[in-house]
Amino acid sequence: MTHVYDAIIIGTGQAGPPLAERLTRAGKKVAIIERKLFGGTCVNTGCTPTKTLVASAYAAHLARRAADFGVRINGGLGVDMKKVNARKDAVSRRSREGVESWLKQMDSCTVYEGHARFESPTEVSVARTQLTAKHIFINVGGRAQTPAMPGLDQVEYLTNSSMMDVDFLPRHLLVIGGSYVGLEFGQMYRRFGSEVTIIEMGPRLIHREDEDVSTAVREILEREGINVRLNAKCLAVRKQGKELTATLDCTSGSPEVSGSHLLLAVGRRPNTDDLGLDKAGVSVDQHGYIEVDDELRTNVPGIWAMGDCNGKGAFTHTAYNDYEIVASNILDKDPRRVSERILAYALYIDPPLGRAGMSETEVRSAGKPALVGKRSMMKVSRAIEKGETQGFMKIVIAADTKEILGAAILGTGGDEVVHAILDLMYAKAPYTVMQRAVHIHPTVSELIPTMLGELRPLASL
Ligand SMILES: Cc1cc2nc3c(=O)[nH]c(=O)nc-3n(C[C@H](O)[C@H](O)[C@H](O)COP(=O)(O)OP(=O)(O)OC[C@H]3O[C@@H](n4cnc5c(N)ncnc54)[C@H](O)[C@@H]3O)c2cc1C
Repeated sequence: MTHVYDAIIIGTGQAGPPLAERLTRAGKKVAIIERKLFGGTCVNTGCTPTKTLVASAYAAHLARRAADFGVRINGGLGVDMKKVNARKDAVSRRSREGVESWLKQMDSCTVYEGHARFESPTEVSVARTQLTAKHIFINVGGRAQTPAMPGLDQVEYLTNSSMMDVDFLPRHLLVIGGSYVGLEFGQMYRRFGSEVTIIEMGPRLIHREDEDVSTAVREILEREGINVRLNAKCLAVRKQGKELTATLDCTSGSPEVSGSHLLLAVGRRPNTDDLGLDKAGVSVDQHGYIEVDDELRTNVPGIWAMGDCNGKGAFTHTAYNDYEIVASNILDKDPRRVSERILAYALYIDPPLGRAGMSETEVRSAGKPALVGKRSMMKVSRAIEKGETQGFMKIVIAADTKEILGAAILGTGGDEVVHAILDLMYAKAPYTVMQRAVHIHPTVSELIPTMLGELRPLASL
């Protein structure tokens, strides 16, 4: 027997559940399928648990710095990893259970728990159950990539998912990959008390960022005692007694580095290889991302792909925005497009990096005449008062239109402050609007108008 629905949603990440809500409220009969944890990556193994851990790590860091603020902590400082982990689990569990009960109590929505596979462009199976619908929405997300590296199959390694079960302090955590996920875990475990070595094959960390951002981030991490190995390609890993040893192809430093635990943070891959997409005729690119148009339609009429699996974004907010785009186009007849979205994200080391739009490097390579403003956090009263003066803020402006092209705010509150700039970019307003705005003192944001008053031509820097 085949169960007939108006719409089938595969995956309960950031786009599927709100779309189920909108569709059912519009009178549609919906089936939603989840093979593992309700809420997907963000809730269970991504943003929510990592930012909860980052908060514990920050508490430990601040406690160590207590004397800087005139605060005495009598007795030794300790981090109880079991409690840290339990706090993280409680926060994560609340979100997961919230998503699960929301879906299970939704009128006209049937939840299937199991692995979904396409049988045809309009049919999906979940184990032996067959479902059919004219409209199918794929929201299957991604998972950690595992490189083909000699020895990896012989050792125990961690990914962002298995890190969630770590309720002890690794003596020495080797992190392969010096990008967003690796840096967040690296700094937090250093602050918990582990020795940490970050191994990055490129010449700098977070290579998509401007060089000054990468350098400042490296300095922040090194100041905390993290070993950063750049230009060091991990060739192989092996177990030596209780130690894990990575062999490196490097021009400087030791060609081998040993630690007690190994975290792989070398990128993500979409969960599209086991979805039966070939039976539906849905096209994917060379990396397995589902090809979609500006409204997130796949090449097969009636099938959409939202979130990380379409390669148009790699964040919770982009996955959620995909839902907004699809819902707006099919239910509200209010056209929205992916291309209207401005790139924005944060790196949650401490201090965080908030990013919006183009980097300085991208503006330079596009050959756009531009102005740039930069201000050290050492010149921001709020940062000085908080004793958190690492980092800087930077903004790039189009010389002709005076519109903001991009910004990077590495510093205390940078993840929040960048939104003032982002909103002005969405408004397509000239930077002079913000330059004349009167911001609250003392905040980090109040220095943005000052920075905008000190712009210089990009080329002269
Ligand atoms: C360590 C880490 C930290 C992160 N931190 C941040 C952050 O701070 N901010 C941010 O914006 N982003 C962050 N991200 C990225 C963010 O988590 C993802 O971009 C986001 O979760 C993607 O959501 P999604 O809806 O596309 O898919 P997912 O959340 O991955 O959900 C997909 C769901 O589909 C299910 N599924 C897959 N295949 C099938 C199938 N065949 N049948 C049934 N179900 C299936 C999966 O089990 C999963 O539940 C982080 C990611 C990681 C790994």
